[in-house]
Amino acid sequence: MEKIYDMIIVGGGPGGYTAALYAARAGLDVMLIERLSAGGQMNLTGQIDNYPGFPEGVDGFQLSYNMQQQAERFGAKTKYAEVLKLELEGEEKTVVTNEGEYLAKSVVISTGANPRPLGVAREHEMIGRGVGYCAHCDGGFYRGKTVAVVGGGNSAAAEALYLSRIAKEVILIHRRDSLRATQIYHKPLMEAPNIRFAWNSEVAELLGEDLLEGVKLRNLENGGEEVLEVQGLFVSIGRKPATDLVKDQLTLDDAGYIMAGENTKTNLPGVYAVGDVRTKELRQIVTAVADGAMAAHMAEQERH
Ligand code: NAP
Repeated sequence: MEKIYDMIIVGGGPGGYTAALYAARAGLDVMLIERLSAGGQMNLTGQIDNYPGFPEGVDGFQLSYNMQQQAERFGAKTKYAEVLKLELEGEEKTVVTNEGEYLAKSVVISTGANPRPLGVAREHEMIGRGVGYCAHCDGGFYRGKTVAVVGGGNSAAAEALYLSRIAKEVILIHRRDSLRATQIYHKPLMEAPNIRFAWNSEVAELLGEDLLEGVKLRNLENGGEEVLEVQGLFVSIGRKPATDLVKDQLTLDDAGYIMAGENTKTNLPGVYAVGDVRTKELRQIVTAVADGAMAAHMAEQERH
């Protein structure tokens, strides 16, 4: 007879691994499926200062590794595979991957969110040739160079500060005249000697053939154009929830996030959504881990 897991978790970020930890500790037979490596976005973050318990902050890669080890200590398994299809209706759920099919009584969706593209011409072909979406991943290539960051939220602020420690100069391009980022970022950004701002501006064109050599900026107030000579452009304008696998089965909100409340229950019995992929006010590691604990709790309760 084919094995049926108590729980399969799709996505190994903090929400997924916390669901794995709680479910495994509760005695459930759990497998987590992850495409690349544990941690999700957390894995790509250098210093994490707002996860409690680490007075000096913690490296995102280390925290990811720790969460995986902790869940596996209680018997959760990690399977590295690409999930191709999910059949979530009915009591027995099927998870189709490039390595085979698996059955589960409950499924936790913790697929997170991916960077939102800017939408400027040639953006896709210039990825890795100057255009990037993660300063902590690619920032090292721009030591001593001039780079720009697009966006005005917490991510753009954090990316600009990180890059200012590597690059010669950082230009923060924002479509408004003030930042959306929380106050804590404002002072360090304003005080950094090598960060300047291009307010009320959008990127109209990417310049350079093989490698990025600059961007053409358009001023949204007066329509004026200006060329910025930059070798790197980091796009940090928010994220798009990774819901392609579930969009025809689970109810999504207008922005594409899975509709689920604090109890992480979706419209389908036995299917839970945790972390950044779920509708919520605050997308942070602490809120993702809270979701993971809740999903395991609900799955355990609903099992009886
Ligand atoms: P965000 O808060 O949604 O900010 C997106 C920014 O990009 C906004 O300033 C927005 O401009 C701009 N934008 C959106 N579409 C654009 C476009 N097409 N062209 C140009 N600019 C565009 O996204 P985020 O900064 O990625 O943050 C995501 C979540 O993670 C947030 O909840 C954030 O608080 C959290 N986060 C927290 C921390 C932390 O606490 N340390 C760090 C990183 C992220 P407008 O202002 O005009 O809308």
